[in-house]
Amino acid sequence: MSKILVVGGGFAGVWSAASAVRLVRAHGAQRDVSVTVVAPGDDLVIRPRLYEADPDRMRVSLDRILGPVGVRRMAAVVTGIDTDRRTVTGVGSDGRGIQSDYDRLILATGSQLTRPRLPGAELMHDVDTLPAAAALDAHLHRLPEIPSGEGRFTVVVVGAGFTGLEIATELVDRLRPIAESAPGEGSRIVLVERNDEIGPELGPGPRPHILAVLAKLGVEQRLGVSVAAVDPRGVTLSDGSRIAAATVVWTAGVQASPLTADIPGTRDRLGRIRVDDYLRARGAPGVYAAGDTAATAVNDDTRVLQCCQHALQLGKYAGHNAAAEVLGLPLVPFVAEPYVTCLDLGSTEAMFSNGWDRRVVATGAAAKARKRRVNELFIYPPVNDPDELLRQADYRFSVRQLGQPQMA
Ligand SMILES: Cc1cc2nc3c(=O)[nH]c(=O)nc-3n(C[C@H](O)[C@H](O)[C@H](O)COP(=O)(O)OP(=O)(O)OC[C@H]3O[C@@H](n4cnc5c(N)ncnc54)[C@H](O)[C@@H]3O)c2cc1C
Repeated sequence: MSKILVVGGGFAGVWSAASAVRLVRAHGAQRDVSVTVVAPGDDLVIRPRLYEADPDRMRVSLDRILGPVGVRRMAAVVTGIDTDRRTVTGVGSDGRGIQSDYDRLILATGSQLTRPRLPGAELMHDVDTLPAAAALDAHLHRLPEIPSGEGRFTVVVVGAGFTGLEIATELVDRLRPIAESAPGEGSRIVLVERNDEIGPELGPGPRPHILAVLAKLGVEQRLGVSVAAVDPRGVTLSDGSRIAAATVVWTAGVQASPLTADIPGTRDRLGRIRVDDYLRARGAPGVYAAGDTAATAVNDDTRVLQCCQHALQLGKYAGHNAAAEVLGLPLVPFVAEPYVTCLDLGSTEAMFSNGWDRRVVATGAAAKARKRRVNELFIYPPVNDPDELLRQADYRFSVRQLGQPQMA
């Protein structure tokens, strides 16, 4: 029996596995090819929603998604990949060492927030993982218990990129009711960005709308400065000024999973594996990369982003091609769907844009309704529904077929 091993149970991993099974079943080869997902936890974590309140609910059982189509699962952290021997090693959820061989490996271990080296960095919160987001949520709810003082209900969000903007604006309505328990103190959100403009990577198109929303919500901005040090009472900025704050949230900088270093070949500046048009690692036969670990082109000028939208699509192509190679079928080159940006901006606002130049096509309540549908519907794979999962696992399936509002 040939083994397809998918490392990572995020969006790219789930859709890689489902897509591989789809092709294997379509060729009646279930007895000849097995598909296994290795991931530390039992759930698909809905990472794009970790800035929202009550983050612990942002997960879906992997077995409910993939069990009905016969995907095997191994609960383990992979610690090493030997591409010559085609084996992975790791630590199982019971603490024992594991080893598994493979015929085709799909590396879908995602990305990680990069933490800065500065005094007090360990005091900063983040929303990159479910435990970190849950810890921030618990910390916010404990604020009324700490002694009152300047900055008790102030949150400094470091980085005004996509995640920084989403958490800063969302915190306005998450923090206000908590602060109301201490009349007179009020709540305050401050965005710190080392560039001179907010949303540096979002470009100029959406900026006027984002700035208008920040002003409406009362989110303060400190631009052109970075954080020099953090202490329990606040932050010191690179210009020497201080902001008293009991909470600091770091959002700046993401790198591909460190496991990418085990794959021979070259990586881009985000640590992503350079793959060919079929998502095969250029330096390691039998290895594919999908999601935030994969560096490939969308067109002559643009490479895929570390985003959910691309992770889903990359996963479907990687799974299809890994199975196709095992079955001796032709591979299909990756073709990205038209790019859209869907930025949440608090409880009533959002921004939807089209294309790589981010032409704004919806704001206000209309954009918020679309963002809700994306967050609460479109990024969730079907559960306990093998037929629907395999229908959507086809690399030609577009999320628009689910009734996503037309954004063109
Ligand atoms: C707060 C926040 C908001 C975001 N908002 C958006 C948004 O609005 N739109 C958008 O498109 N994207 C957004 N993103 C980015 C998006 O979440 C990621 O691009 C996406 O999750 C990548 O999918 P992935 O499957 O590659 O990786 P992940 O979702 O990170 O999944 C990686 C998987 O690999 C597993 N894994 C990691 N290391 C190992 C190991 N050593 N062994 C075994 N398994 C391992 C993990 O446990 C996990 O199951 C956001 C991210 C964050 C944090």
